[in-house]
Amino acid sequence: MPRNRRAVIVGGSMSGLFAAAFLRRIGWDVDVFERSPVELVGRGAGITTHPELMAALEASGAGTQDLGIEVERRITIDRTGRVIGERRLPQILTSWDRLQRLLRATIDPAHYHLGHSFTRLEQDGHDVRVHFAEGRTEQADLLVGGDGIRSAVRAALAPEVQPVYAGYYIWRGAPNEADLAPETLRDIFPYFVFHVPPRQQVIGYPISGFNNDLRPGHRRYNFIWYRVGDASQLKEMCVDATGRQHESSVPPPLIRPDLIAAMRADAASIMPPAFLDCLDHIAQPFFTPIYDFSAPRIVLGRVALVGDAASSSRPHMGFGVAKAGGDAEALADALAGHDDIDAALARYDAVRQPIGERIMLHGRRLGTHLGVDLKTAEDRAMSKLLQEEGALMDWIGVPNFLERQP
Ligand SMILES: Cc1cc2nc3c(=O)[nH]c(=O)nc-3n(C[C@H](O)[C@H](O)[C@H](O)COP(=O)(O)OP(=O)(O)OC[C@H]3O[C@@H](n4cnc5c(N)ncnc54)[C@H](O)[C@@H]3O)c2cc1C
Repeated sequence: MPRNRRAVIVGGSMSGLFAAAFLRRIGWDVDVFERSPVELVGRGAGITTHPELMAALEASGAGTQDLGIEVERRITIDRTGRVIGERRLPQILTSWDRLQRLLRATIDPAHYHLGHSFTRLEQDGHDVRVHFAEGRTEQADLLVGGDGIRSAVRAALAPEVQPVYAGYYIWRGAPNEADLAPETLRDIFPYFVFHVPPRQQVIGYPISGFNNDLRPGHRRYNFIWYRVGDASQLKEMCVDATGRQHESSVPPPLIRPDLIAAMRADAASIMPPAFLDCLDHIAQPFFTPIYDFSAPRIVLGRVALVGDAASSSRPHMGFGVAKAGGDAEALADALAGHDDIDAALARYDAVRQPIGERIMLHGRRLGTHLGVDLKTAEDRAMSKLLQEEGALMDWIGVPNFLERQP
C-alpha cells in the first residue's frame, strides 16, 4: 500500500485550519503546529463576512452554524449623531473567535499541536524536514506556511519580502451591549455604522458576546477608529508602560495610559455621542498598525504559503479570512488535480498569487481615503471619490468588490 501524502502545517489560526480541513478532504495526512501554548482567542475582534467565506466554511466542513449577527442596513452619522446617509445591505457580522471555534472543530485534536514554534526547514526536492524550537522535527511531502503576516516560514525562504506600514493605524475594542446607553442601542447598535471626520474613519457593527452569545443584551459592538500616524509616531506609540520598545504592536495591558488618555481626549472632540459611549465602555482599548504586502511567489519548492503569510491586505474589505479559505481550497484543488506535487504547486501559485496581489492593491486604493502618501493621479482621484458623501458605505467591507474596480 502506498502511504498517504503528508503535509505539515505551520500556524493554527484561520489559514492553517482551512488548509488542514481541505487537505484532509483530498486524503492527505495533516498535522498543524501552532506557536501559542494555549488555545487562540481573538480579543473580540469583529469579522465582516463575504459569500466566498461562507462557501469556504461550508466546503471545508466547518459550516456556518450560529455564525453571527445579521444587520440589514448601513448608515453614516455626523458629529451630532444625525443620519446623513443610508444603504440597505444585509450582511452577517461574525467574530474571529467564532470562526476559530468552527474551524478548530474540523480537526482531530491529536493532529493539532499547540506550543510548537517553527524555526527552520530543509528540503531536497521531494521531502521537507521541519524543525521546531521545542526540539521536534517533522518530515512531510509539503510544508504549508499559514503563520501570518510575519511568517517565519516565508522569512526562511524569502526574507526580502516584508510587510509595508500603511501610514495609519486603528484604535479598537468591543464594548458589551449591556453597558451601552439606551440611545446608543437604539441609534447605532443594530447597524453597520460609519462616521467620517476628515482623514479618519470610525466604524462600528454588532458582534456576538462572550462564548458566541447571540442573545440580545449579551452581544458586543465592534469599534474601529482609523487614524493617520507616520512611522516615527508609531514607534513612539510602541514604547510600552514599562518603557520597553516593541516592534509593531503592544500587548493591550501594556499600552501606556498617557496614549489612551490622549486618544480619549481626541475622540471627545470629533465623535458623535453614541461612538463616545462605546469608547467609554471599552476598558482596554488597543491599537493595531495597518500593514500590507504580497509575496511575488507563494510556492517555494515544497513550501506553499497560504492566508496572510502569502499576502495580506489592509482590512478595508474585511476579506482576509475569506482569502485564507480560498487559498487553502485552491491548494487542495490543485493537489487533487495533479499526481505530480510540483506541478500542482505551480498551478496553485499561478492561480492564487495574482488574486492575493489584486486584493492587496484594492486595499491600497480604499486606503487613499485617509490621504497618506498619494503618489499618482489615480491615487488622488480615488481619494477624492471616497470623500464623497456616503462613498465609504459603498466601498468598505462590501461583497464582490473585485468586480467593482473604480
Ligand atoms: C484590524 C483588522 C481587521 C480585520 N478585519 C477582518 C474582517 O473583517 N474580515 C476578514 O475576513 N479578515 C479581517 N482581517 C484579516 C484577518 O484577521 C486575517 O486575514 C486572518 O486572521 C489571516 O489568518 P492567517 O491564519 O493567515 O494568519 P493569522 O490569523 O495571523 O495566524 C497565524 C498563526 O500562526 C502562528 N504562528 C506564527 N508564527 C509561528 C511559528 N513560527 N510557528 C508556529 N506558529 C506560528 C500564530 O500564532 C497564529 O496563530 C482583519 C485584520 C486586521 C488587522
